[in-house]
Amino acid sequence: METREPEVIRDKEAMRRWSRGMRSQGKTIGLVPTMGFLHDGHLSLVRQSLTLSNVTVVSIYVNPGQFSPTEDLSTYPSDFSGDLAKLAAVSSSGSVIAVFNPKNLYDYDGGRNKKTISGGGRGGGKVVSCVEEGGLGHETWVSVERLEKGLCGKSRPVFFRGVATIVTKLFNIVEPDVAMFGKKDYQQWRLIKRMVRDLDFGIEIVGSDIAREKDGLAMSSRNVHLSAEDRQRALSISRSLAMAKASAEQGQTSCKELKNMIISELVGAAGRIDYVEIVDQETLQGVEDIKSGVVVCVAAWFGTVRLIDNIEINVTV
Ligand code: AMP
Repeated sequence: METREPEVIRDKEAMRRWSRGMRSQGKTIGLVPTMGFLHDGHLSLVRQSLTLSNVTVVSIYVNPGQFSPTEDLSTYPSDFSGDLAKLAAVSSSGSVIAVFNPKNLYDYDGGRNKKTISGGGRGGGKVVSCVEEGGLGHETWVSVERLEKGLCGKSRPVFFRGVATIVTKLFNIVEPDVAMFGKKDYQQWRLIKRMVRDLDFGIEIVGSDIAREKDGLAMSSRNVHLSAEDRQRALSISRSLAMAKASAEQGQTSCKELKNMIISELVGAAGRIDYVEIVDQETLQGVEDIKSGVVVCVAAWFGTVRLIDNIEINVTV
């Protein structure tokens, strides 16, 4: 099959011109936001976008606004030329893929006027992202106030504000018709859907199923940092989620019981648990007894790597 290297666009004005040019030719635009180091999970989103829109923009940008200064921004893996080759391989002869790879979406004056916003961060408090700490002078943030607080938001207090803000910026630059998000990051997908509804973005948000390795591990760019031993232990996450789902489908409705089952699997595999929660699929509020659709969400550390995974359970009692 003929492969086609994607066009790489690094400047936001050029990106906007490209999109508007496509739109003026009557083309619909799909957007797949990523932080690069692409794997089959990302590529499944790209394939879906290619079926839903005429042209697809894949953004590759490691967003400093969603990392706190103590997190892994500096060690986040990257392989830009590998990413381009993977995208070329999924693009068949008729499809158009552009890669948007900006240098710094928070730098508005070429770094001439670096300044830290004093009192920046959450509620004027001390919790800041790498953007405030980096002193770039950016001070407008988008917060989805309730959905950003639970699950990953508890241990990563600036994360979702950073995600909502960068996605807003990408929406404003790329002006897509449809945007793809993986359910691997379930809270992120729900939060972006809520943001789009609440702020009246004219963009359809599509949630895509979790792509897994053959042995069940949810694909993630961070898996590359797992040692062979930790990778083996980390299989306890998908295994325990599948066990919980099977148990719920056999009639176990107590979330306490289901969570204990997961916790003992993770602890038995030497995982350090950040959270195990069973929440309503839409509101992400915790539930005690399963009566309608829930999602079981896990975040746990194996070695130095924090992994997240989840499984939807759609039993009705
Ligand atoms: P990231 O590069 O990790 O920010 O991810 C970019 C997009 O790919 C997000 O919408 C993720 O939810 C999605 N994604 C990451 N891993 C997977 C996976 N294993 N299956 C499906 N989507 C994924």
